[in-house]
Amino acid sequence: MSDAAVSAVRSKRVRLKAQIDADACSGCMVCMDSCPAGCISKEGEEIYPHHVYGYCVVETERCTGCRACERHCPWEAIEMVAATGSAR
Ligand code: SF4
Ligand code: SF4
Repeated sequence: MSDAAVSAVRSKRVRLKAQIDADACSGCMVCMDSCPAGCISKEGEEIYPHHVYGYCVVETERCTGCRACERHCPWEAIEMVAATGSAR
């Protein structure tokens, strides 16, 4: 994150939101279990009963920016990005 973005976050003009890199995501779902807001879900194709092959996505509007998912992701597939404007 750039110095300008860090400065904006500190001044509370923007908030951080989690963003998952689908190409880096293994679909392990660790982030889903760690998210207190319950705003991560898995997208993909069910190849066996109860087993979905795919990747996780964040429902940005509900993300509080707590960074729990980022800390827990074993594949470093989650990045915190600055959300501007009317973002919560
Ligand atoms: S913890 Fe990381 S690798 Fe696992 S599903 Fe979430 S984003 Fe993907
Ligand atoms: S930053 Fe927090 S609220 Fe947002 S998706 Fe990650 S764990 Fe959930």
